[in-house]
Amino acid sequence: MKNLASVKVIKEILEKSGFHFSKSLGQNFLIDENVLDSIVSSAQIDENTSVIEIGPGFGTLTQRLLQKAKKVVCVEIDSSAIPILEENLSEFDNLKIINADVLKCDLKKISQEEFEGERVCVVANLPYYITTPIIMHLLEEDLNIDSITVMIQKEVALRLGAKEGTKDYGAITLSVNYHAVPQIITHVPPSSFIPQPKVSSTVIKLSLRDEKAVKVKNEKLLFSLIKAAFGQRRKTLLNALSNSPLVPFSKEEIQSCLSLCKIEPTRRGETLSLEEYALICENLSAK
Ligand code: SAM
Repeated sequence: MKNLASVKVIKEILEKSGFHFSKSLGQNFLIDENVLDSIVSSAQIDENTSVIEIGPGFGTLTQRLLQKAKKVVCVEIDSSAIPILEENLSEFDNLKIINADVLKCDLKKISQEEFEGERVCVVANLPYYITTPIIMHLLEEDLNIDSITVMIQKEVALRLGAKEGTKDYGAITLSVNYHAVPQIITHVPPSSFIPQPKVSSTVIKLSLRDEKAVKVKNEKLLFSLIKAAFGQRRKTLLNALSNSPLVPFSKEEIQSCLSLCKIEPTRRGETLSLEEYALICENLSAK
């Protein structure tokens, strides 16, 4: 079996196939075996686990997943990578390749068709130009998945795991934490990829919660409140919420709600916890 993490092997494939790395598709392929091993081991893949992989490229990570998992379904947008992938992984019979844009895929339908009730994980070295949309697509589809273990830009990973009041804490922190528990696995330098990205990277594991982090009657309102509060970070909470078209309540209603919730109206949105947003949401929903 070819070692697809070897630069020599990758260069041979490029020469033979005429493939060119696409910057706009975020094609930075992994060449660091320790990082590949750490992704697979932290995702806890075994013969009772199936995997959805996004962006297999030449199949470097896929190869390692296939050796451990029951089945791997991978979604790759670049049609010129598909014949290379098929050839590189031809010895495996537990692989399904889908040539599509993952953001346009009905992952729920794919999961129903391809898996038989086993534990399912998402594992990927994500294309960085659409990291956040992909993560939110996976979380919001309410797929029956156990965890998402992905390589992403370091700065995004720090945002997902940020604490209240810090500069990295944002709407995305709260959205991800609502669905999952984030855990930083390892930081990865640009030299672990070919071609090298301009940014540092991090492997992060998001373990999906059995129940959402907070219970609210109106999930849409919860996320509108968060978006409004972070949309105008420098404003006080009262002004940010009452000036936003996303929040359909008057300044007086919001003021009385904050007072009932014992939340100072002069606080900034970035100092509130998810539980405090949920409290405001429940209180406003009752109006
Ligand atoms: N998994 C390989 C590795 O680790 O070496 C390649 C990872 S590379 C960072 C990202 C991969 O995602 C590329 O193969 C790229 O073509 C693919 N990709 C980019 N946008 C995509 C999309 N919208 N849907 C599916 N795959 C995508």
